[in-house]
Amino acid sequence: SLSDRLAATFKNLRGRGRLSEADIDATVREIRRALLDADVAVPVVREFTRAVRERALGAEVSAALNPAQQVVKIVNDELVEILGGQTRPLSLAKNPPTVIMLAGLQGAGKTTLAGKLALALKEQGHTPLLVAADLQRPNAVTQLSVVAERAGVPVFAPHPGNTSAEDTDAVIGDPVGVARDGVGEARAKQHDVVIVDTAGRLGIDQVLMQQAADIRTAIDPDEVLFVIDAMIGQDAVSTASAFAEGVDFTGVVLSKLDGDARGGAALSVAKVTGRPIMFASTGEKLTDFEVFHPDRMASRILDMGDVLTLIEQAEKAFDAEEAEKMAAKVAGGEDFTLSDFLVQMQQMKKLGSMKKMLGMMPGMAQMREQIENFDEREVDRVQALIQSMTPAERDNPKIINGSRRARIARGAGQTTAAVNGLLDRFAQAQKMMRQMSSGGGMPGGGPGGM
Ligand code: GDP
Ligand code: MG
Repeated sequence: SLSDRLAATFKNLRGRGRLSEADIDATVREIRRALLDADVAVPVVREFTRAVRERALGAEVSAALNPAQQVVKIVNDELVEILGGQTRPLSLAKNPPTVIMLAGLQGAGKTTLAGKLALALKEQGHTPLLVAADLQRPNAVTQLSVVAERAGVPVFAPHPGNTSAEDTDAVIGDPVGVARDGVGEARAKQHDVVIVDTAGRLGIDQVLMQQAADIRTAIDPDEVLFVIDAMIGQDAVSTASAFAEGVDFTGVVLSKLDGDARGGAALSVAKVTGRPIMFASTGEKLTDFEVFHPDRMASRILDMGDVLTLIEQAEKAFDAEEAEKMAAKVAGGEDFTLSDFLVQMQQMKKLGSMKKMLGMMPGMAQMREQIENFDEREVDRVQALIQSMTPAERDNPKIINGSRRARIARGAGQTTAAVNGLLDRFAQAQKMMRQMSSGGGMPGGGPGGM
C-alpha cells in the first residue's frame, strides 16, 4: 500500500526538521503512483501533483508531523478541497416543486438512483414524484415503476404498459413532453419534489445529449445530477466534460462505490468540472445510498486511511499553542513551574490513547517506546497532587515544606511519599528544561523529548 511505500521512502528522514525539495519530490512520486493506481485521469494527476509540490515547498514546518506526514497531510487537504470540502446539500426550490433531473451514460445507475433519492427524501418528510422520461428503451419505464413501487412513491409515466416495441432503440414517445408533463403533474398534485429520470447511451451520443439539453430547457431544474459509475476509470474526464458541455449539471453522484474502484473518477470529475460530488451510491438496494464525504473519499483514493487518522490525532494531541508558550518561556529563561509540568504530562496522556496505532506510522517507532513506558494513571495522580497545591506552591515549589507536603498529600488522598516523588521528578524536569534553554531549543521539537 501507499503507506508502506511511504514508510520505506522516509526511513532515512526521521527526525529531520524541515521539508527539503528532495523529500517532497520523493513523496510526490509515491503520491503520483497512488493516484494513477486509483485511476485518476493522467492530466488531473499531473496538475494535482504540481499543485501539491508547490504547496509543500512553501509550507510552514509543522512541529507535530515528520516530513512524510506533512506532505501526506498537504496531499490529503488538497484532495478534500477538490472533492468539495464540505458536503453540499440539495438546493430546494423556494416555490415547490423542487425539480431534480438525472443525467448520465446508460448503466451509470440513474434509474436506481432515482429510487434511492426518492426514498431518502420521502423519509425526510418530502413527497417526491418520479418521472419516467427515459423512452429510449421500452424497459426503462417499467424499471422505474418497479423502483418507485419499492420506494413507495408514485411515478408519472407515458403510456403505461406500452413496452412491446421489439427494437430496443426505438423511441416510444416524446421524452421532453413527458418530462414537462411530469413536472406539471407534480405541481398539480402538490408534490414538493419531482425527480426526472432520463435516457443515456453506452457512449457519448450527440442526439441523446441534445435530448437531455432539451429536457433541461423545458423543465428548468433546480438540480441536474450527473450520475457516473466509479469504475469508469480514465474515461471519467471525457464523459464528464461531454455532459458538462452538452447538458451542464449542478452536482455529481458517484455510483457503484461498493465495487473495487478506488474512486479516482471522483477526483477527475470534480477537478475537471468544478462541480460538487453530492451523493454516493453503494449497492443495488434502495438504501445503499449516502451523502458524499470528501474526506472519506480522499483516504480511499490515497489508500491510507490509517495513516491519515494518525496524522489527525498526532496534530490534535500536540497542542501547538501550549508547546509554543512553553518554548517561549524556556527561551526567555523563565522558570518551568509545576503547572507547566502538568501540561506536559497531560499531553503525554493524550498521545498515550493512540499508542496502539503508533506502530503503523512511519517514523514513530521511537516515540512509541516512550509512550509505552508511560503510565496513564500516573497523570491522574500527579494532577490530583498539583491541584491540591496553592498557586504559590505551584509557582515556587521551594516553599513546600514538611507540613505543606502533608497537607497536599491529604488533599489528594495520597501519601507524603507520593508528594516527595513528584517533587523529585519535577526537579529533574526543571533541570532538563534549564539545560535546554541554555543549549537552544527542545530536542525533537516537542514536550517529553519527542
Ligand atoms: P441507468 O441506465 O443509468 O438508469 O442505470 P441503472 O440504474 O439501470 O443501473 C444499471 C445497473 O447497475 C443495474 O443493474 C443496477 O442494479 C446497477 N447499479 C446501480 N447502482 C449501483 C450501485 O451503486 N452499486 C452496484 N453494485 N450496482 C448498481
Ligand atoms: Mg435508466
